[in-house]
Amino acid sequence: MIPGLKPASRAVHAGRDLEARSPLAPDLSTAAVHVFTDLEDYDAVVRGERPGHYYGRNSNQNREMLERAVAELEGADAGVATASGMAALYGAILALAPKPATIVATRELYGGTAAMLRQDLEPAGYEISFIDLTELDAVHRAMQTAGLVIAETITNPLCGVPDIEAIASMARERGVPFLVDNTFATPLLCRPLDLGASLVMHSATKYLGGHSDLVAGVIAGDATTMGVARARSARTGTPLGPFEAWLALRGLRTLDVRVRRHSENSLALARAMQSMPGVARVHHPLLEGSPSFRVAQRLLPRGGGGMMAFDLAGGRSAVQRMIERFRLARFAASLGGVETTISYPELTSHRSMSAEQRAELGVGAGTVRVSVGIEDPDDVIADFAHALSA
Ligand code: PLP
Repeated sequence: MIPGLKPASRAVHAGRDLEARSPLAPDLSTAAVHVFTDLEDYDAVVRGERPGHYYGRNSNQNREMLERAVAELEGADAGVATASGMAALYGAILALAPKPATIVATRELYGGTAAMLRQDLEPAGYEISFIDLTELDAVHRAMQTAGLVIAETITNPLCGVPDIEAIASMARERGVPFLVDNTFATPLLCRPLDLGASLVMHSATKYLGGHSDLVAGVIAGDATTMGVARARSARTGTPLGPFEAWLALRGLRTLDVRVRRHSENSLALARAMQSMPGVARVHHPLLEGSPSFRVAQRLLPRGGGGMMAFDLAGGRSAVQRMIERFRLARFAASLGGVETTISYPELTSHRSMSAEQRAELGVGAGTVRVSVGIEDPDDVIADFAHALSA
């Protein structure tokens, strides 16, 4: 990597290893296996002492480029690309807490993560404790027994911003590993490793890929932990396929321009929605009045990202009416693509929680999450104004 590059340039060039006559855009290598004529050469490649690939579950040139690129963007030694964000999360947790321990996680968490903690790790002997990570006193208390802390840079779905820097400092003091899901922020808005986190992970399905056409995950961190995660991913069969890696790297090249536009559009929409009919509350990290406003200003100086949420006073029937009236926005369960989409956490990201659990988080029947796209902001605002005018 060329030293001293600014983030936008890093996104364009990260992971490249261009020699004379090499292709400017990477070739796609779908080979599952490579042939060798020399036993010693094979042995050296398997040991990692010589560059090269031998079996697709262990390594692949497209996956390796993506891993290098994300590691460079996150300021990490290395990355491991997996078949989905959930595989990345699972791999990251096992790398940091290989034996049953107390996992302290943010209360307002992607529902799939909460479901994995409850349904897969708890039965395996892990204790799961959900707390409000924006309450630093509660974090301090939880740190006394924690074996791992998990946070999201910007929480799903209500876009709160915990003070990752303060949590990392407490975690370091107690020697507790700290994992950050940086999916909503991307390394262009926040680099949790610079703030003291132990490991960072992404659902690359979202902003890194950016076009709603792949499912992928990436973990990034120090060389030793990544070595452990990589070996386990190969043993348990979770690595990312070559085509998805190729697509994700292609998406990464435009990350800076996309994230800037996503961030501008989401703040513009959040501001406009505050005065739209039927809107009880708007959630955006950089909205004056947001409980996370000050922390977000400090930790997200380049923008608040493309995610926001709002509550409709009319509940589920009002959400249904709005969906029917949209001309541009679409109801879809994912996020982070170029197009504006909305999701309904009660039925999508947080459906594995009970209504009481959702209510505790502030997610109700009128809560809508928006992934604001990169369209012209006037068109996006007009679409929501039209949909809510009935
Ligand atoms: N983390 C966050 C914040 C997410 O929103 C998601 C998916 O929506 C995931 C992790 C899981 O990623 P994937 O769907 O790629 O497995």
